[in-house]
Amino acid sequence: MSFADLGLAATLQTQLANLGYLTPTPIQQAAIPAVLAGKDVMAGAQTGTGKTAAFALPLIQRHIQRQDKAIRIRVLVLTPTRELAQQVYQSFIKYSGGTELRTVVAYGGVSINPQLEALQQGCEVLVATPGRLLELAIKELIDLSHLETLILDEADRMLDMGFIVDIARILKRLPETRQTLFFSATFNDEVFALSKTLLKQPELIEV
Ligand code: AMP
Repeated sequence: MSFADLGLAATLQTQLANLGYLTPTPIQQAAIPAVLAGKDVMAGAQTGTGKTAAFALPLIQRHIQRQDKAIRIRVLVLTPTRELAQQVYQSFIKYSGGTELRTVVAYGGVSINPQLEALQQGCEVLVATPGRLLELAIKELIDLSHLETLILDEADRMLDMGFIVDIARILKRLPETRQTLFFSATFNDEVFALSKTLLKQPELIEV
């Protein structure tokens, strides 16, 4: 199976070839068509499986194909740590080379001002940790009303780190009609309970 077989645009195929990615990983094979089709996804996947590209590539493709070029936050990726937020941000930058997609990252523990400056330039993808995202949303420094896709990356770690209240508060501020992608390395009762509140008829993917 190739990236072309998964329905990815030529621009993305070229970008992936430049990066030396020859074949999609199992999670990419399963998730890319589901995300392109607009489905909710619940994926069990460890780091190192290629999970970031599994959600980034189809969302970048949606950007490429979008007619409405207004720069609004369409994609929100929530991560448990600033390190993961930076990694996911770097992945979007890497995979979206040659496109007009704008991505911003925001996390706590550092000054908010440079992040605000980046946000003021506009972006379609915002990668953030829950606390900082909530701060931005409560202060009405970001507009999430055009959000199309929410991704919870490493949801199990987010729960372990006590982000459940922040996540619940964030969800109240997001459009009801949206696509939600849920990634977790492990599944326990709490993770399942959260996934149930978030996902509508999800495609289940385990690799
Ligand atoms: P992740 O699981 O998202 O942290 O990705 C793990 C690593 O695999 C990253 O360094 C990616 O750059 C790399 N990677 C992702 N997809 C592919 C692929 N299809 N072929 C080769 N490397 C990949």
